Amino acid sequence: MNMKKVLVTGDRPSGKLHLGHYVGSLLNRVKMQADHETYIMIADVQALTDHFATPDLITKNVHEITRDYLSVGINPELSNIYIQSQIPEIAELTIYYMNLVTVSRLERNPTIKTEIAQKNMEDSILVGFLCYPINQAADITILGADIVPTGEDQFPMIEQTNEIVRKFNRIYNTNILKECSCLVGSTGRLPGIDGKKKASKSLGNAISLADDSTTVKEKIWNMFTDPNHLKVNDKGRVEGNVVFTYLDIFHENKDEVSALKDHYQKGGLGDVKLKSLLYEDIESVLTPIREKRQTLTNKQVIDVLQNGTQNARKKAQSVLHSVRNVIGFNY
Ligand code: ATP
Ligand code: MG
Repeated sequence: MNMKKVLVTGDRPSGKLHLGHYVGSLLNRVKMQADHETYIMIADVQALTDHFATPDLITKNVHEITRDYLSVGINPELSNIYIQSQIPEIAELTIYYMNLVTVSRLERNPTIKTEIAQKNMEDSILVGFLCYPINQAADITILGADIVPTGEDQFPMIEQTNEIVRKFNRIYNTNILKECSCLVGSTGRLPGIDGKKKASKSLGNAISLADDSTTVKEKIWNMFTDPNHLKVNDKGRVEGNVVFTYLDIFHENKDEVSALKDHYQKGGLGDVKLKSLLYEDIESVLTPIREKRQTLTNKQVIDVLQNGTQNARKKAQSVLHSVRNVIGFNY
């Protein structure tokens, strides 16, 4: 019997993966794949909830994201990378869960609230968008996840998933669905290069794993620092200064960062010096990722997706079969 804990996680293919994904969840996935039964979902159906009119944006990124995964060290021998739309069982389970959640509960979900505000959707909330936490609960539970490595913004989704699990098990007098726990990376949330709270694909404020050196440099040079730090000798602010936030995460020598912070606050340390240091740090993360990407063939990517999707579907079918049985849909 396989006693490994099941790890389920994923990303929307609405753009390229970025450093927020890297520190927020990819590093955990790479570390944990050796001793967990791992499933990584490319959430193309979920990405439709905000990009339904531009499906190209999604479909063209499915292979790119797979390349991102393989380049950071996701090993297809250990992890199943699969495509959400190719597992129709998830959609069926979502429908069953829809009867267990109220509209007002979804409207209170903090992640949904933030995204509605960010996208100015207050007066035109689509049913599909509002229900995506329910769809996510189906993604997670249909594979019997124990652990879900995510960024901190996903906490409310896990809470909502576990509420659905408890309600389903209670109503249908069963224990077939499992509650799961969230595993947040050492950096809960990486801010955007523009100073916004979160680097994100849709806000266009992130350094992508596939960016070339010139783009990385440009992004770092435009990074938000302290708008009042105009001359080198001015005293600078460290709080909210994105270059320092990134140095805290990516610069190994923490004593050096602390000395730089002191110097910056006293005055006499220019932004360019800090940005050059950060550029080196980010390049040392991205260079091996770029090198690995170069070695991947299209065939490899297609095979990885086919194989991962086949494995995930088999498992999903078996869980859905149990769900249908407890409801009584076994005519
Ligand atoms: P979108 O703008 O399309 O929502 P996103 O950049 O927020 O894209 P998602 O695909 O929604 O990325 O997120 C996938 C996973 O990556 C989630 O677990 C999320 O918490 C994590 N993640 C995304 N951005 C960050 C970030 N800046 N810091 C930490 N984790 C992040
Ligand atoms: Mg997101």
